[in-house]
Amino acid sequence: MNTDQPTTDNQQPSTNLETNAIRIQNQRSHFDEHSTPLYLTSSFVFEDAEDMRASFAEEKEKNLYSRFSNPNVNEFTEKMVRLEGAEDGYSFATGMAAIFSTFGALLNSGDHILSCRSVFGSTHTLFTKYFPKWNIETTYFEANETDLEKYLTPNTKILYIETPTNPAIEVLDLEILGKFAKKHNLIFIVDNCFATPYLQQPIKYGVDLVIHSATKLIDGQGRVLGGVTVGKKDLIREIYLFARNTGPAMSPFNAWVLSKSLETLAIRVEKHCENALKVAEFLETQHSVSVVKYPFLQSHPSFETAKKQMKMGGNIVAFEIKGGIEAGRNFLNKIKMCSLSANLGDTRTIVTHPASTTHSKLSVEERNAVGITDGLVRCSVGLEHFEDIINDLKQALENN
Ligand SMILES: *Cc1c(COP(=O)(O)O)cnc(C)c1O
Repeated sequence: MNTDQPTTDNQQPSTNLETNAIRIQNQRSHFDEHSTPLYLTSSFVFEDAEDMRASFAEEKEKNLYSRFSNPNVNEFTEKMVRLEGAEDGYSFATGMAAIFSTFGALLNSGDHILSCRSVFGSTHTLFTKYFPKWNIETTYFEANETDLEKYLTPNTKILYIETPTNPAIEVLDLEILGKFAKKHNLIFIVDNCFATPYLQQPIKYGVDLVIHSATKLIDGQGRVLGGVTVGKKDLIREIYLFARNTGPAMSPFNAWVLSKSLETLAIRVEKHCENALKVAEFLETQHSVSVVKYPFLQSHPSFETAKKQMKMGGNIVAFEIKGGIEAGRNFLNKIKMCSLSANLGDTRTIVTHPASTTHSKLSVEERNAVGITDGLVRCSVGLEHFEDIINDLKQALENN
């Protein structure tokens, strides 16, 4: 193994996510530090002309320039590759940089994307505003649709989904979609941001590429932005070449922060999910709430699918307050402890009301098509004591 490459302390990767998230680490420098240092350097040096030639010719795996690779970024990427059970990966400045570069590297003019309608807002903007400029069209299917063959064209190249979806918390069946993608020779890409590899590993179901916004639960503390794509080696090679020339590289500092964050991913996500289930169960008892959407509630329409492909239900709970837009706004105004913020997956519980904020520019019909009803509240359940979270939600609902 090349000295620039991350390695485990004992040289043997474990089969356990918790251990790999902690023990995959760059080789120690001559200072014998215990925790990986920060390699805040834009470039690297060479022994001589031959070393430089061989490095640029990729005959050696060596860091050349931090737009291409960097030890901290490599360590973070290597952990994500192992955690997702992938072959290779590349890390980006943001989740959107990962999404844009992945499509940019793999698509040609005339290609067609088949995507679930419930995708992250900026991803939707890419599909509808920017990709058509390059003659790349997208067809949406609904999260609960099963007959997708009718949407295929001879140019359909990519099947794209998120599960659970944002913010309506629908769950799509990875196994069924994996078989469909294989049958029709599509590149199957999943944005696994809401689940994290701790809860769900899409590659097990035949997914080719997994994308993350590392900004969310992977950082987990609302500090830095980041993104990563992992999956099949030949596809990652295309994405790497695209990225090394277009420049969406992850900062070594952010990679260093995110690699440390992964050390606590398992225990954080576990606690997030425990708290979220308690919050969801509490909300189900409230008269002012008409619907609660949480994958591990028996009332969720895809409860069985969620149980099959997810270890726990995630940290996002969506619920419908009776009384529409005004009731949603009143609820936010009454909140005392939880934060009103656009982020999610933070230690701090965050509540948002999509109909009056993030999705207010859409028409009622457009909002309803992606499950954003007027009274829908999205709660990213944090790591505070669950009683304090529930008490805050309770007083905001009571005064409504
Ligand atoms: C936040 C988010 C993104 C975009 O990530 P950034 O790091 O903000 O660029 C993409 N997909 C999902 C599901 C997200 O929640």
